[in-house]
Amino acid sequence: MKISHIEHIGIAVPNLEEAIKYYENVLGLKCYKQEVVADQKVTTAFFKVGDTKIELLEATSPDSTIAKFIEKNGGRGGMHHMAFAVEDGVAEALAEVQEKGVKVIDKAPRKGADGLNIAFLHPKSTEAVLTELCEDPNK
Ligand code: ZN
Repeated sequence: MKISHIEHIGIAVPNLEEAIKYYENVLGLKCYKQEVVADQKVTTAFFKVGDTKIELLEATSPDSTIAKFIEKNGGRGGMHHMAFAVEDGVAEALAEVQEKGVKVIDKAPRKGADGLNIAFLHPKSTEAVLTELCEDPNK
């Protein structure tokens, strides 16, 4: 696969509104979009930092993976995943990593936030960092 850049860094937050305040008022970034991803039971908020985005994730339900992550982390948020943009497509990249014995969470690409096709690799196979592969289908 060919990775072009870090597409985004996903950060779990217990309170989206409070977190947005930090990113805007302290770091001077601008939240350009908020989006509910029903599939993943999260509300997301996006900031651009060069070619990379920050994706804040707040759980919309106690059985959301983000709610479980925060619970495990003693009620605090934290870095949740790293997402790479792959140039040759997520489906191809998934096939390639599975051939290399990598455990995947998504066996096929699915729709993620911000219009991307995404798939997650299992942290057991990615040096303990939950890793997302993405492609922008409109590019
Ligand atoms: Zn993500």
